[in-house]
Amino acid sequence: MLFGRKNRKPISIPSKKVKEWKYTTCNYCSTGCSIEIGLDDNKKIVTSRGHAGADVNRGKLCIKGLLEHELFESPGRGTQPLLRDKHYDEFKPATWDQALDKTADKIKEIQDKYGRDSFAIVSSGQLLTEEFYTLGKLARGCIGTNNYDGNTTLCMASAVSGYKRSFGSDGPPGCYDDFEHTHCFMAFGSNLPEQHPIIYWRLKEALEKRKFPLIVVDPRVTMLAQFADIHLPITPGTDCVLINSMMYVIINEGLQDKKYIDAHTQGYDELQVLVQDYAPEVAQHQCGIDEDTIRNVARIYAKAPAAMSIWTMGINQSTHGSDGVANINNLNLITGNIGKPGGTSLSITGQCNAMGTREWSSCSGLPGYRYLENAADRQEIADFWGIDPEFFPKKRGLAETDIFPAIETGEIKGLWIVATNPMTSMPNTARIRKALENLDFLVVQDVYEDVEMNQYSHAFFPASVWAEKQGCHTNTERRVNLIDNVLPPYKDSKPDFWIFNQMAKRFENGKKIKFPDKPEEAFNEMKALSKGKNAYGNERILDISGMSYEKIIKARGIQWPYRESEGEDNETGELKGEARLYTDGKFQTKSQRANLICVDFYDNNEKPCKDYPFWLNSGRVVEHFHTRTRTGKIGNCNKFSPTPYMEMNPDAAAELGIAHQSYVRLTSRRGDAVVLVQLTQRVSRNMVFIPFHFHDCVNRLTLGLLDPYSRQPAFKQGSVRIETVDQDEAARLNVERRAY
Ligand code: SF4
Repeated sequence: MLFGRKNRKPISIPSKKVKEWKYTTCNYCSTGCSIEIGLDDNKKIVTSRGHAGADVNRGKLCIKGLLEHELFESPGRGTQPLLRDKHYDEFKPATWDQALDKTADKIKEIQDKYGRDSFAIVSSGQLLTEEFYTLGKLARGCIGTNNYDGNTTLCMASAVSGYKRSFGSDGPPGCYDDFEHTHCFMAFGSNLPEQHPIIYWRLKEALEKRKFPLIVVDPRVTMLAQFADIHLPITPGTDCVLINSMMYVIINEGLQDKKYIDAHTQGYDELQVLVQDYAPEVAQHQCGIDEDTIRNVARIYAKAPAAMSIWTMGINQSTHGSDGVANINNLNLITGNIGKPGGTSLSITGQCNAMGTREWSSCSGLPGYRYLENAADRQEIADFWGIDPEFFPKKRGLAETDIFPAIETGEIKGLWIVATNPMTSMPNTARIRKALENLDFLVVQDVYEDVEMNQYSHAFFPASVWAEKQGCHTNTERRVNLIDNVLPPYKDSKPDFWIFNQMAKRFENGKKIKFPDKPEEAFNEMKALSKGKNAYGNERILDISGMSYEKIIKARGIQWPYRESEGEDNETGELKGEARLYTDGKFQTKSQRANLICVDFYDNNEKPCKDYPFWLNSGRVVEHFHTRTRTGKIGNCNKFSPTPYMEMNPDAAAELGIAHQSYVRLTSRRGDAVVLVQLTQRVSRNMVFIPFHFHDCVNRLTLGLLDPYSRQPAFKQGSVRIETVDQDEAARLNVERRAY
């Protein structure tokens, strides 16, 4: 029987008349979906589709990927370089030479007057890896500033820091295939269906084949929590308490993997002493999860033949994000769940190439997971680039979140922003806006001329978008995939790779260091730097020496490590890297053992109080990416999610006399924002949730205390009060906002 469908006409999809399909990779999230772009007879792009032969997405795409081909001619694109003397003057069009010369002169002028580190560079997780590597050469080797960072400090820095502290190296040890093997799946602060829809689809497919417990830790009833077997609605910022308490149960009930702990870890004695302070009957009062549930979940996890944890911003964006990651690693190490099928500690990365910047950009060190603090690493890179190692700083400089305060104090006078939009993405944006007024010179390099950051720039470099360029991405499971240049650059925009190369020519060391013309030549340099041994004499794990563009396209992405010696898989003839790290229990530390790290809970968050009685939570919706610089221009993405809104509990709304779909004003100790109310039981009575994508919205309210290790801000732990507002005025404001 056709329930309700009898008289409906079938949906018909008009033919797009595709003449040719071109291979590329999605440029939004870190899932790393392979895409084919359809071109018609006139080489005009008409559609996109998922590549059916790609292991990551197996023909599927989410809404963003399906509409990504609309980016090429979307409104607001930069068409030519622009210059002006003061940030409130009219821009004047310039040639590339004029814009590059002026910027290079300003950088030198500022550095001559105030010192090399007075000019800062903040990049992104969305360039191609060859572009990151080239920017690293330029920033570290030519311009020579130590205050160079990426916007990954806002999303993945805690994962990087936690991995380094536990395993001696960055690099997610697991992969999507682990879903097929796990017997228990625990997600901390990760809402896969909205954040990473295709990873969620992979998980769901695995669950349909074979049932295993899905446990979700999240203060909000997210979409993933709605599908969970057990949902733990934790008190914000207390994940360390929950995990310590789980480890208390595991250790005191003898459920730990003693053999693995003895053979492959260090620090167990201290850890087992620490967790004695976290008995479930005590911990429940801090983390908000009852003692029976803590015990139940700990037993399920420890008794599973293989158990895995994933996490995203719910862990990373916290004052103890790095500790949270280290503690998830602790949980997996003491249960022997690292490096085995279905047993892993997998950070789900945010941006499409957050991994590429971590690996090769030199933001927090030197290329290929090398450290500025290590003399041998400095020497090796200086020799490879052909410069004096003394040109490099001997320790890492400021992170993005410390660069803006340094602009306030006058320590930094000039800034180059590449493909990121801190005026929307940083916490407490009013403070960022004020800081930008202090700059002597700001250059903004972006695909879009109307990006909010450009309001304060003195020079604008129009960059080419996505598949107008060529180069690689690395996804969440360490899979390197290729973006191919399907179209030439739009108008007078240029690939970021070209812009960095041209800027290098204007610096003295740019004449000593080779800056190849083609991205593949930069890739070959990275390959050469990726092999061999690290400072502790361990074989480098970030080894891509066996890869080539040709092999990557053939395999639709290859995971690293993929060493020179690797060939095709004997049975399948496929080109495959290693699916998992640390399978032999040897880590990248001096002792080759993983570190078990004592993580004690300290409570330093801003919390609800009498004046600001609601927790403020923020996160992503499926239609948008980051600050909507791109998705805000795509018709259907914007149509499905056009308005800044707030999820609010109906009981709390009733108490304040607030109606569904009315506008309210939220106020925090930093500022205020007006949003539309959506009443839902997804949030508790003392919490509200707002998508983070919209300009002049949630980040006007956020405090963003910093994690001491990663310098990542705590976007998700703050407090607000809610007031009713004049509805007509708020509606008018909203219409103006939508016009953007
Ligand atoms: Fe792109 Fe991520 Fe969507 Fe895949 S899941 S199509 S990578 S945005």
